Amino acid sequence: FDEREGTIWFDGAMVPWREAKIHVLSHGLHYGSSVFEGERAYGGRIFKSLEHSRRLRRSAELLDFQVPYAVEEIEAAKALVLKTSGLQDAYLRPVAWRGSEMMGVSAQGNTIHLAIAAWEWPSYFDAATKMKGIRLDIADYRRPDPRTAPCASKAAGLYMICTISKHRAENKGYADALMLDFEDNVAECTGANVFFLEDGVLHTPRADRFLDGITRQTVIDLARRRGIEVVERRIRPEEMTGFSECFITGSAAEVTPVSEIGPYRFTPGAVTKTLMDDYLAEVQPKAQAA
Ligand code: PMP
Repeated sequence: FDEREGTIWFDGAMVPWREAKIHVLSHGLHYGSSVFEGERAYGGRIFKSLEHSRRLRRSAELLDFQVPYAVEEIEAAKALVLKTSGLQDAYLRPVAWRGSEMMGVSAQGNTIHLAIAAWEWPSYFDAATKMKGIRLDIADYRRPDPRTAPCASKAAGLYMICTISKHRAENKGYADALMLDFEDNVAECTGANVFFLEDGVLHTPRADRFLDGITRQTVIDLARRRGIEVVERRIRPEEMTGFSECFITGSAAEVTPVSEIGPYRFTPGAVTKTLMDDYLAEVQPKAQAA
């Protein structure tokens, strides 16, 4: 991924893609003191850009460091990266981490770095293919207890078990894994939140012990605008027997229907299709009113 054309915003400068490098003794690499964002631009506009910039700063604060750029500066940097990329539709990846001055658990004075890259990440499937639904395994690892880790932070370290879980799922032929929380309730996927439909009502796990996705919040709003009731609650895995539809949400995943989770089966249907379409309409830049 490092050998390609392009320009990356790196600590305030626009740097050629291949030269955007860091030292091997970076604290972020050794101790996971790193936070990031994943966002998409549609038609030249980054969807909910401000929310992502605010979350990046908040994620860092939860790891006890400050991103050395104000929200407005992050916004301007992302806009510059997108413009320079020449892409209308793109995925943006801001990442902030502790630098290399001190190499130990404590690194109070280390410089905080910020880099922002943008690249093409299309939704690979057309709507008809997507409606077949993806298959999910159930992960062995649980999401950590909020007393164990700062679970509201989009922190690199929290993705270690996500990568292991996703690899295990892929090696068994699944697209991804559903992760349970520390009390064995349904939590989220390795990079997306999850929703279920039962008798016309949407159910989604309460997001107080894993990432409360910006897409999740958007889809809850969209559903309520359609008059669909949304209940945020603890969901036991066995309840999945009674759910008719299931989909996952995320900036990268958008709204993706699910057909299978372990032994449970779902049929992507009208509510999933409506919210997929509503989401794709919502992310498009609106024509400015005269
Ligand atoms: N959970 C995890 C673990 C994620 O990585 C993501 C993707 N950022 C999400 C949920 C969904 O978050 P969002 O809708 O803000 O992209």
